[in-house]
Amino acid sequence: MATLKRILVTGGAGFLGTHLCERLVHEGHDVICLDNFFTSQKNNVAHLLDHHNFELIRHDIIQPIFLEVDQIYNLACPASPVHYQHNPIKTVKTSIMGAVNLLGMAKRVGARVLQASTSEVYGDPQVHPQPEEYRGNVNPIGLRACYDEGKRCAETLFFDYHRQNGVDIRVVRIFNTFGPRMHPYDGRVVSNFIIQALANKPITIYGNGSQTRSFCYVDDLVRGLHAMMNGPEDFIGPVNLGNPHEFTIRELAEIVIELADSKSVIEFRPLPSDDPAQRKPVIDLAKEKLGWAPRVELRDGLVKTIDYFRGLDLSRFRTPTSHSLQ
Ligand code: NAD
Ligand code: UDP
Repeated sequence: MATLKRILVTGGAGFLGTHLCERLVHEGHDVICLDNFFTSQKNNVAHLLDHHNFELIRHDIIQPIFLEVDQIYNLACPASPVHYQHNPIKTVKTSIMGAVNLLGMAKRVGARVLQASTSEVYGDPQVHPQPEEYRGNVNPIGLRACYDEGKRCAETLFFDYHRQNGVDIRVVRIFNTFGPRMHPYDGRVVSNFIIQALANKPITIYGNGSQTRSFCYVDDLVRGLHAMMNGPEDFIGPVNLGNPHEFTIRELAEIVIELADSKSVIEFRPLPSDDPAQRKPVIDLAKEKLGWAPRVELRDGLVKTIDYFRGLDLSRFRTPTSHSLQ
């Protein structure tokens, strides 16, 4: 049996965080979920509060915090473009000051710390598909820069704390992930399209819908995070985690309309600036080092996600910002 650990999950009340906390609680670990509830709310983890090995802390990771833990998953950061662009300076602070605080904690207590980085470090990629060696094409002064450059600098901090202070790090680059418990007003493409389709409202495609993304189901992604945290001693990453099956946004809209049995029509809206034209991970490294590959195809994951949203009481959710989907 694996040794039980005390594990901190920052951003633990968010979409990926709740699924991860659930898994760790069921494994018996002592789980500390830390969140400032910017893009989440307490009721996301209400079902875990009765577990003796789960603890919830309201805290902002741009402020230092002193805890004694064995492992840290650093997931705290708004992930949807509308949310990370709402207060871009805060987004940069969250990535950078948050990384410094958690790396400092890891250094002090000898914990292993995993950074949830992103495919956005590749920007609008000129290499397709994207392997980990690709250094990216990021506009440092664009609307996405607060997130992209924040996450890039966080990776820099992780590797410098590792080289300079011997901190035990892991870095994963997460590609578009979807599934139940995405915030209904989160603004990301999968949740937007499903909510619109279920209400038979127009599906909003930004641009002409020829841009591509590769969508990973949440269970696969959480399995990847766990595999990386507990993987080989000498493999610190960065490693891509995502599903390499690529779809255009137009294809996604058509599949969602079909699976939701919706009467929605497609409506075209302006393409936001710096929106990447294509994105697809190379996952050979994750396969080789972690024995990890996604198992859930887009359609199967969408069926589960549509079921989840169909049963959701939307009145339980508030919109995180005035820019969230109304
Ligand atoms: P999410 O918005 O659902 O969750 C993020 C959580 O972090 C929220 O609960 C939010 O309240 C919290 N948070 C934000 N700023 C904070 C701060 N300063 N202090 C404490 N808590 C804070 O997003 P998610 O999809 O669950 O993403 C989790 C992580 O994975 C993020 O770091 C994101 O950048 C990364 N990621 C996600 C995806 C994806 O497709 N879901 C893709 C790439 C990277
Ligand atoms: N998108 C869209 N309609 C929406 C929301 C998003 O066409 O209602 C597009 C967006 O412009 C992007 C893609 O879908 O090209 C994925 O957007 P998302 O915000 O989910 O994440 P990104 O991968 O861009 O960070």
